[in-house]
Amino acid sequence: MPIKNEKIYCINHPDLLMKRLPGYYAITKLEKDGEKITFMPSSGIPVVVFTCGECGYLEFYPALKFKAWREGALYVKCKSCTKDFFSPIQMDKESFETSSLKNNSFQCPGCGKMNSYNKEDMFFK
Ligand SMILES: [Zn+2]
Ligand SMILES: [Zn+2]
Repeated sequence: MPIKNEKIYCINHPDLLMKRLPGYYAITKLEKDGEKITFMPSSGIPVVVFTCGECGYLEFYPALKFKAWREGALYVKCKSCTKDFFSPIQMDKESFETSSLKNNSFQCPGCGKMNSYNKEDMFFK
């Protein structure tokens, strides 16, 4: 809950930084008509979810409030299964241009394979 310098701390552990879960989530919209409840999986609010590694407390914020949602986040194309995955290293476009990223070992959450990636393998989307 407490946000300091855009970092989010756990409500139960005010000294612990909450970790962002990769990717985006959503609060699904629903319609209530008397007793009848219909979930509307194609509408809702995109959110970014954070969790505390210690107590598991979850918290979410509208994705629109995050630069990565507006400008794109860093992704990597898996060298084994060719699917794109959310890069464990995140930065904005300006920092990306000036940084040299070499031989970073990432594990693909899709196929579980570990590969080494360079700047050329990373892109915004
Ligand atoms: Zn906690
Ligand atoms: Zn893969």
